[in-house]
Amino acid sequence: MAKQDLILLALDPAPILDLMDRALRAAGYEVARASDRSGLDKSVQEAIPALLIVGEKFSDSDGLSVSKDMLERFPTLPIILYTNKDSSDLAKAALKTGMSGYLYPPLKIDDIVDEVQKSLARGRRLGDWLRREVRRTTSSLAEKAQISEAERNKLEAIIANIQDGVMVIDQNQNILFVNHAIREIFKLEGKEITGRSLVDVIPNEDLKALLVRSMEETLKHHEINFDDGRVFNAQYTFISKIGAAVTMQDITHFKELDRIKSDFIHTISHDLRSPLTSILGYTELIERTGPLNENQTEFIQRLQGSIQHITTLVNDLLDLGRLEAGFDTSREIVNLESILKYSLDMFDTQIKNKKLQIIKAITPDAQSIRANPTRIRQMMDNLIGNAIKYTPIEGVVRVSISMQEDQIIFKIEDNGPGILPNEQSHIFEKFYRATNVPEGVQGSGLGLAIVKSIVDSHQGRVWVESSQGKGSSFIVILPTQE
Ligand code: ADP
Repeated sequence: MAKQDLILLALDPAPILDLMDRALRAAGYEVARASDRSGLDKSVQEAIPALLIVGEKFSDSDGLSVSKDMLERFPTLPIILYTNKDSSDLAKAALKTGMSGYLYPPLKIDDIVDEVQKSLARGRRLGDWLRREVRRTTSSLAEKAQISEAERNKLEAIIANIQDGVMVIDQNQNILFVNHAIREIFKLEGKEITGRSLVDVIPNEDLKALLVRSMEETLKHHEINFDDGRVFNAQYTFISKIGAAVTMQDITHFKELDRIKSDFIHTISHDLRSPLTSILGYTELIERTGPLNENQTEFIQRLQGSIQHITTLVNDLLDLGRLEAGFDTSREIVNLESILKYSLDMFDTQIKNKKLQIIKAITPDAQSIRANPTRIRQMMDNLIGNAIKYTPIEGVVRVSISMQEDQIIFKIEDNGPGILPNEQSHIFEKFYRATNVPEGVQGSGLGLAIVKSIVDSHQGRVWVESSQGKGSSFIVILPTQE
């Protein structure tokens, strides 16, 4: 209640001080006096007044600076300045400081009480507004904090419970977070791992390779194999300002299906080979049993062509099966240049028929490599065969062998139809034939899959660079020391 408000008077002794004291007490206010700065400080420490009346001159300081200090400490405290002589400059200065009232003689009791009441009311309004604002902002902050806390819990629950493994690492590859699935996959139950180096906590070679490769290449996924047969596909995602996330999906089941499918194809191809050989044998025998008319000869030739085609397909499938199974480990010192020569010799008739220009460029420092010569020949045959097959008459095919540090680079470039950008990533898949294949150009879509398997089994890399209508370059990089 206003009547119990404490009014602090900071005025030098004078009749007006006593008048104010009496008038305010009479109006029901509690009144206290301060005789100097230190007394004023003591008083406000004991009880914060509801209002302060300060003299223009107060002890050895002045009313304006006292008000400034007080308002810094108590911004809502109403302060009235008392001056012996009215001056508009002083009134302006008082307003600027943030004081709420201004008194000067001649003063009647009512003037004093009125001014005090007005200032108190203004101070109260300011205090109420401030309290409301504080309540409003803090409640909205609390609300926000609550939402984000709830959201965070939800997110944590989702990440913790999803089947895929999720781990987040910082820019130095220290662990920031791993979910439950990661702990299970790497058998980390109970271990305190946050903040530790990922490669120390999980010394898995495949994971290490993913981290190294992700920093250098655009390829951000890698298979992670475990001794117990589990296989995971790990995906690396860069996160700006944090580091990276690695997610892992269990693909053991798909790998097993793939293996069963390959076994099936292998068995079928194997079983088809013998009947195909005998069909081919009998077609040849027919020719020897007696003279055939023109039609019969043509049909037999077509039959033989088709059987040859199926036999090539079956042989390719068997080769792929063998390569994928990793049986192909025999190694010899192999000179790429001489293999290239044999391969080009084999295609000589086709090169001449299509009037192709073959340009060879082999750097003198080209080293020999440790490899399987039959497979390297097969790789070259497929790449050269394709270049010849897809390049139009009178086209140009460039073949080069060069060195780059301890790697040998085999490149074959043609000015054929080129391959559409969105198809380039598929052409190394089994049975994939791109839309650029001209009508009547035969093929099984297995040649490049075989090339890729051979290059992979020699720890090399193969890729295509091509622009539609201009030609294609196939580049193979093989390490000289496997
Ligand atoms: P195919 O038996 O069809 O030649 P490959 O696996 O050898 O199978 O090649 C896959 C596909 O890649 C081809 O069908 C063709 O579309 C494309 N291709 C391969 N080599 C070339 C090339 N030199 N120029 C243009 N396209 C090519």
